[in-house]
Amino acid sequence: MHEIVVNLHMHTRYSDGSGTHKEIARAAIKTGLDAVIVTDHNVLVQGVEGYYRVGPNRVLLLVGQEVHDQDRVPQKNHLLVFNANRDLAPLADNPQALINGVAEAGGLSFIAHPRDPEAPAFKESDISWEAWKVQGYTGIELWNGLSELKTVIPTKLHGAFYAYFPQFIGHSPIFETLQRWDELLISGQRVVAIGGSDAHAMHMSMGPLHRVIFPYQFHFRTVNTHAFIPQPLTGDVPSDKKMIYDALAAGRCFVGYDLPASTRGFRFTGRGREQTAIMGEELPAKGGVTLQAHTPDPAEIRMIKDGKLIGKWKEAYAATHIATEAGVYRVEAWRNYLGRKRGWVFSNPIYVR
Ligand SMILES: [Zn+2]
Ligand SMILES: [Zn+2]
Repeated sequence: MHEIVVNLHMHTRYSDGSGTHKEIARAAIKTGLDAVIVTDHNVLVQGVEGYYRVGPNRVLLLVGQEVHDQDRVPQKNHLLVFNANRDLAPLADNPQALINGVAEAGGLSFIAHPRDPEAPAFKESDISWEAWKVQGYTGIELWNGLSELKTVIPTKLHGAFYAYFPQFIGHSPIFETLQRWDELLISGQRVVAIGGSDAHAMHMSMGPLHRVIFPYQFHFRTVNTHAFIPQPLTGDVPSDKKMIYDALAAGRCFVGYDLPASTRGFRFTGRGREQTAIMGEELPAKGGVTLQAHTPDPAEIRMIKDGKLIGKWKEAYAATHIATEAGVYRVEAWRNYLGRKRGWVFSNPIYVR
């Protein structure tokens, strides 16, 4: 399996972002990404998918959409839609019908920014997901760069500070979202976690100050989804696209906060009596399963079973746990960065049944 770095969930001028697809591709190449997935609000932009090149470097730009009901007040329930063969925005007013429509169109659906609190200082309302009775979606956006920003800007002054020092924002997925994910996993559902940037490259003005806050390049160095594909990207758009979406559909991926240090090289594997598994896969509990996590740099590695911490390794490159009980096992890695402990890696689970 080959690891690729994907940044997903971002906006262009087709909705409320400030950049173009070409500018996004350039920023992605500069930051060394393998692929980006652009998701404008309620529009499926045609004719821009493909490889973009600068010199010897290239990036695969894919296009999905972020769908929500624009008549709803407040405008909650945002859904990321990937790989559907048609525009799903007409189904926006009913989240379950929308999710069903995505599945019928051969696509994947991820609940965007499940918890997204209000930020009254900036007149931003709470746009969390509310329709939790829905079924049949692929997963959730565990870590969203923009929702997290909303948790740290009680005043305009805070906003100005983070506009100039955005490296201080990233801390971890919002706690309620992590908790919700564990609850869904414990209930027996398979729920894939992805990390999204929600990059807009917004323009901000405060008195004489004017700047593009959080440019695409900044987002592309922060929360990424690292996916595992069976062979390196070939340059052929249809087959590369299929490999990436197959990996996201299966949960063969992890969420990496690449700003403190690159998370490239993180692994979480399971070895049973007869089979092995990586993230997103299942193993029988019978005979025991050896779970192993490796990080590319020392970190605090935490092993979690059914939402409960079962082991913590400090300043470690590796962690091993022998699982004898059925359960949903996942791994987190945390690091100290800019004066506080911050989430670094959030793996998808290995399901021991
Ligand atoms: Zn959204
Ligand atoms: Zn968005």
